[in-house]
Amino acid sequence: MHPFRSLPSIDALVSLVAPLTPAPRSLIVSVSRTVLADIREAGLAVDGATCVARVVGALNQFLTPTLRPVLNGTGVLLQTNLGRAPLSDAARAAMQAAAGGVSIEYDLTRGSRGERNRHLSPLLALLTGAQAGIAVNNTAAAVLLILTALAAGREVIVSRGEAVEIGGGFRIPDVLRQSGATLVEVGTTNRTYVRDYEAAITERTAMILCVHTSNFRQMGFVHTPDKHELAALAHRHGILLVDDIGSGALVDVARYGLSAEPQVPDHVAAGADLVCFSGDKLLGGPQAGLIVGNTACIERLAKHPLMRAVRLDKISIAGIHATLLSYVMQRAEAEIPILQMMATSTDALEQRARTLQHHLGAPWDVRATTSTIGGGALPTDTLPSWALVLPCRHPDAISASARTLNPALVGRIREDSFWIDMRSLMPVEDSHVLLCCQQLAYDSNVS
Ligand SMILES: *Cc1c(COP(=O)(O)O)cnc(C)c1O
Repeated sequence: MHPFRSLPSIDALVSLVAPLTPAPRSLIVSVSRTVLADIREAGLAVDGATCVARVVGALNQFLTPTLRPVLNGTGVLLQTNLGRAPLSDAARAAMQAAAGGVSIEYDLTRGSRGERNRHLSPLLALLTGAQAGIAVNNTAAAVLLILTALAAGREVIVSRGEAVEIGGGFRIPDVLRQSGATLVEVGTTNRTYVRDYEAAITERTAMILCVHTSNFRQMGFVHTPDKHELAALAHRHGILLVDDIGSGALVDVARYGLSAEPQVPDHVAAGADLVCFSGDKLLGGPQAGLIVGNTACIERLAKHPLMRAVRLDKISIAGIHATLLSYVMQRAEAEIPILQMMATSTDALEQRARTLQHHLGAPWDVRATTSTIGGGALPTDTLPSWALVLPCRHPDAISASARTLNPALVGRIREDSFWIDMRSLMPVEDSHVLLCCQQLAYDSNVS
């Protein structure tokens, strides 16, 4: 007999599935069609009950969010694939509160239209020493907006050592082309001097663009010019100096034993007309591109038509505002998770790992390890850390089953063991980690 003779009709299948799911009929029909088509294509002989089970399974999968909470046990603090910076309680609360109607572009005093930009500009100015600030979707959008609004049809001078790729397809030469500006590369890969920039300035030059080489380091015979000198050069010639500093720390991360990372106020003080940086890297807020600088330049950005396409939404504005407020009130290290993760002592991490191990017992173990910053920041730096470790015969299988838990637990595989680094986890997550680990130990015993 032909195998497809046993397949139910769409109508029959839908009426069998409907009582088993809250999904609307139209969705059941659509998923049933796909499931039957897959079965036919595979040439399988499948009975009616199996068809029903497959449709119910496919519906469950369709209705389950793919964006799931994850416990970050990777030891990479700003894991881009896991959403970078975890947010402070204040930022979470502010974002929740902004979910309904808010005065995003409404002046409650006058009862008339208000400026979207007024929410963040004063805080950004206070914290960075710039005259004004503005927020867009991410730093890639910030660079595109700056180049489009201030340099389209003109030339932009970039050091050969800074015409870089940041990751996720963000390449400075490509963004420049997209903006309608022309890239003029100067210097060499490892050494660029002020005189190289000066020699490239023509009447077509709009700006000098500096880009922090966030995700790699050049060492040895390297020279990049002093930003004060570059700013003076730009202003002598009536052109702009724009500085994309990437992470944009507002605190000195050297106090956590890390290499110096550009701090926003220093780059503003050096005389750049605009400085842009990420909201969700070392700043520790939601995804955003923050731009600070002189009022004239910020106003030109605010008025440009592209601004409408890249402006930040109300929820992220609320989250960035709450995050910046932690810095203003000098409570950043106590409130912002990424700073807490960097600041936590190795002893405290060991203690947390030992407490979890105590509850779990053997074969769980506690071992020293090292964490990294990630998110394209401080690529050569590590921080000492402690991990909860499960020695096991099949760490791949343990790792895979950890990813199916809810919340999912993502760790690392090393030396035939599954490692959970404590530094990239928030202390409030430890109880969830414990539950996940109990489940994993059970899985590893039965497998
Ligand atoms: C990370 C980074 C970007 C991109 O930032 P997003 O906010 O991810 O768009 C751009 N420039 C530099 C120098 C960076 O480090």
